[in-house]
Amino acid sequence: MKTLRLILGDQLNYKHSWYKTQQDNYVYCMFEMRQETDYVTHHIQKIIGFFAAMRDFSNVLKSEGHHLEYFKLNDKRNTQNLIENLKIIIQEHNIEKFEYQLPGEYRLDQQLLIFTKDLKIPTQAFSTEHFYTNRYELKNFFKNKKQFLMETFYRQMRKTHNILIIDNQPEGGKWNFDKSNRNKWKDAHHIPPFKKFNNDVTDIVELLKNENIKSIGSFKSNTFEYPINRVQALEQLKYFCENLLIHFGDYQDAMHTKQVNLFHSRLSFALNLKLISPKNVVDTVLNYWYKYGKDISISQVEGFIRQIIGWREYMRGMYWALMPEYSNLNALNNTHSLPGFYWTGNTKMNCLKHAITNSLENGYAHHIQRLMVTGNFALLAQIHPDAVDKWYLGIYVDAIEWVQLPNTRGMSQFADGGKIATKPYVSSASYINKMSNYCESCYYNKNEKLGDDACPFNSLYWNFLDDKRKALSNNHRMGMMFSLLDKMDKTQLVKIKERAKTIMESPDNF
Ligand code: FAD
Ligand code: SF4
Repeated sequence: MKTLRLILGDQLNYKHSWYKTQQDNYVYCMFEMRQETDYVTHHIQKIIGFFAAMRDFSNVLKSEGHHLEYFKLNDKRNTQNLIENLKIIIQEHNIEKFEYQLPGEYRLDQQLLIFTKDLKIPTQAFSTEHFYTNRYELKNFFKNKKQFLMETFYRQMRKTHNILIIDNQPEGGKWNFDKSNRNKWKDAHHIPPFKKFNNDVTDIVELLKNENIKSIGSFKSNTFEYPINRVQALEQLKYFCENLLIHFGDYQDAMHTKQVNLFHSRLSFALNLKLISPKNVVDTVLNYWYKYGKDISISQVEGFIRQIIGWREYMRGMYWALMPEYSNLNALNNTHSLPGFYWTGNTKMNCLKHAITNSLENGYAHHIQRLMVTGNFALLAQIHPDAVDKWYLGIYVDAIEWVQLPNTRGMSQFADGGKIATKPYVSSASYINKMSNYCESCYYNKNEKLGDDACPFNSLYWNFLDDKRKALSNNHRMGMMFSLLDKMDKTQLVKIKERAKTIMESPDNF
């Protein structure tokens, strides 16, 4: 039976069983489309990276003898719409069956469900064979439970997959070494430069220019630095094991004016496009550690494994358990617009300036910059979660909705009322100062709440607690913060709220 197989841009899993089957009857298809470049304004490096990786993948398939139809963005036959492109190929090749891998995003899932419902030929959907868990495993795991705690799921994942387990107990005697992951980086350890790949993307840059694709961020060289194929992804992973794992956990939450990624792996782009699997990553890290890692403490390894089999699988499971309603939640009723400086980095607030500039220049920021700087400010300034989502979905090379949305709307903005985070991740300057050197060279004074040079995070923080008290009063993890608020002098609180109001009304003046 002549069968068409669709490969989406984030389904570049070379190890998929599809490519092992007898190939004569299969036509594969891949499309660069405006439908995908335009549904949100993406970072220029994100579009370049997706197209570069797709083209590389298509070359590998073709070189191995697979029959592939690849539509470049400016191909004449390209309708720029997934369904219309599929119809063209189905007709041209007299296709008798249509097969696809389950999309990562709800949007595309719906599009294909509607299409296949009316299609006159048989259809089959396949797993992407990438994740440890299937789409609804987490939903079933938490069935009839009140709380969907990541830690509960993570421990189960460790046991099920026998990862860092000895005699049914956690290796090292603890499930979680999070408390040892909170050091400030003070130049104590040399940080190796991050690994860059010199992928020539001149053609793609030209194409995006000619087709007037709207984008954000900058792209200064003509080479794309992140891995675009499996070989490069494995190289990046090896580099991480040999150079960065040793301090990954220690400095996981640290931030520094001179450091873009500290000991982070920068593997998210490769993982999310499925160039490598999470199992690949976990097995490689564990093998390396058991074989060569006598100087690497378990807290570094556990801290990293938790991100992959814990947070990453958990976020995907939550996405599929809670969509589509999840994308409209706004539990704290936030309504403000995103400040203009999120698109330029033009602000006197040093922490935001660094986190945003890093994002604009590299399509990258590490987790704590996303959570405790840009995310923290957006929540304190009471920005509408739709605007926050849109920014996060566009700005990062690794942003795909299944992972971006629960991280942003849930973990960072608490717009789901606490389904993912057990309390809002908000802080005044004290946390940012504890984890970084940003405050040392900032225009603002980290210790002041009032006055022209007082750090804006401070007044916004107390104002947030006061404004959102009703919505958060039942949260037992907020008790200490509210009791501190209660102890505050009432006249001072009025003044703090006035300053917070001024900041929220015109954040671009700060
Ligand atoms: P490392 O710190 O080296 O971690 C290793 C890997 O663990 C990452 O590559 C990633 O695959 C996984 N991981 C770590 N934390 C998380 C997490 N919270 N959720 C899911 N996976 C995780 N990650 C994305 O991949 N895409 C996004 O669009 C995205 N948006 C985010 C938005 C916000 C507001 C926040 C707070 C976090 C977001 N994250 C997102 C999670 C995390 O920040 C990135 O995965 C990480 O910064 C990628 O850099 P890295 O590869 O160097 O990660
Ligand atoms: Fe950020 Fe405030 Fe510190 Fe400045 S003083 S870097 S604005 S936290």
